[in-house]
Amino acid sequence: MTSFDLAVVGGGPTGLATVLAAQALAPSWRVLWYRGRQPGFVPAYAGLHPVHRLNVPVERMGLDAAQPVDFLDWLQARHPERGVRPGDFVPRTWFGDYLEARQAGLRGPPALDARPQDLQGVVPSKGQWRLITADGNEAHARRVALCLGLPGGQAPAAAPAHWIADPWAWWRALPEGPLPLAARDEVLLVGSGLTAVDLALGLRARGFAGSIRAVSPRGHWSLPHAPTPPLPAAALAALDAELTGAGRARRLFRLLREAAAHHPWRAVLDALRPATNRYWAALPLVEQARLLRHGFGPWNRHRHRMAPDVRATLDADAGLRLERGRILVDAEGRLWRRHAGHEEAIDAALVLDCRGPAFRAAMQGEGLLARLVRAGVLDVHPLGTGVCTPADASLAVLGAARFGEAFETLAIPELRQQAVDTVRRWLEPEAAGDRPSAPK
Ligand SMILES: Cc1cc2nc3c(=O)[nH]c(=O)nc-3n(C[C@H](O)[C@H](O)[C@H](O)COP(=O)(O)OP(=O)(O)OC[C@H]3O[C@@H](n4cnc5c(N)ncnc54)[C@H](O)[C@@H]3O)c2cc1C
Repeated sequence: MTSFDLAVVGGGPTGLATVLAAQALAPSWRVLWYRGRQPGFVPAYAGLHPVHRLNVPVERMGLDAAQPVDFLDWLQARHPERGVRPGDFVPRTWFGDYLEARQAGLRGPPALDARPQDLQGVVPSKGQWRLITADGNEAHARRVALCLGLPGGQAPAAAPAHWIADPWAWWRALPEGPLPLAARDEVLLVGSGLTAVDLALGLRARGFAGSIRAVSPRGHWSLPHAPTPPLPAAALAALDAELTGAGRARRLFRLLREAAAHHPWRAVLDALRPATNRYWAALPLVEQARLLRHGFGPWNRHRHRMAPDVRATLDADAGLRLERGRILVDAEGRLWRRHAGHEEAIDAALVLDCRGPAFRAAMQGEGLLARLVRAGVLDVHPLGTGVCTPADASLAVLGAARFGEAFETLAIPELRQQAVDTVRRWLEPEAAGDRPSAPK
């Protein structure tokens, strides 16, 4: 049986970035890539409508950590007719096309063996990792990079049949032509983050003229991007020192509010992004939990911004309303909006669950991450939202599954950096003449 230098598990942007990093930094490695059975870069970058756009400006979305403008360069060279310029928020399917092009440019066998399979098991075995697929096929690798993303949401117990837990799967399965909705129907969006925004825009683009109601605990959309001058270096240095020693979630937010009173808030958040994980790691666990409980919503609204014209489209839609509250499902499957001590019955024809990835649910069930936790290969982070860095350095976890240990670990700029850092870390002991660490 062939033994590979590296197995990359996951066919999304993080998996691709890791294969690219390995081919660039360790060209002699033989890489095995389990891309998963799901074709295309779903859900974020395939099977979408042009109204579904990137929430990061085009010049920052390159997959190559050393060259963030790579995507912009590719678009301008391949599609000059689109007239794309820095600062544009382009359709996400264009980014999907770019990912396909980067994938097509990979060196093939024997350097790379790419398999459209789901991996079911990763077992330490005689100084290597034994990799087992659902159909019982096996391979061995000295190092493994888990780039699994996270599954979509989970329906609440007793949710009715018209509650759609995975709205992106629902969207992709929609038939051509008229939607299976009447003009008088109401659609309920549970949540008001960027998925809710995408679904509202998508429903309108597909001709739905009925009412759309979004409900979230604070009842706010994400804020729009806007041009902003960078934070002056001296202000950043002073703020960095204070945030590093903040110690408490409340103080951290107070410091951010004070900074935003003196400088444009977007400039403050953008300048702090490279160090956000450091501030997060410096907080005690109990303060991290507090921040997630009380500050995660406001943080997301400011940090995960949408294109300004997308926000203008939402604001101009008279049939779209946004309300505060929590959606509850009772034992009979009826829906209620609870707010300020009152409960209101909801009668929606369709409920799209837009509460985002199921961080905690991914640690249970039948996914690979949950299996590895049960097998003792991975440990759940004390916050319960992801896994810890494996004690064994020949196994790496990248992306959303690291949420908890890392805070910024979901978007392309962080994912591509994790890919390069992971491969570099593996190369360091070899450059120093040591054997690569092997599973115990
Ligand atoms: C709707 C949406 C829009 C987004 N928009 C942006 C944006 O504009 N800008 C930005 O920077 N970020 C954005 N993000 C965040 C991030 O870029 C994407 O989520 C991105 O797809 C994450 O890449 P990933 O490879 O880590 O995970 P995923 O894309 O989820 O890929 C995971 C892969 O792992 C595979 N897999 C899972 N289990 C197994 C297994 N057992 N064996 C083999 N393969 C397996 C899956 O099939 C899949 O191919 C968006 C996210 C979403 C959901």
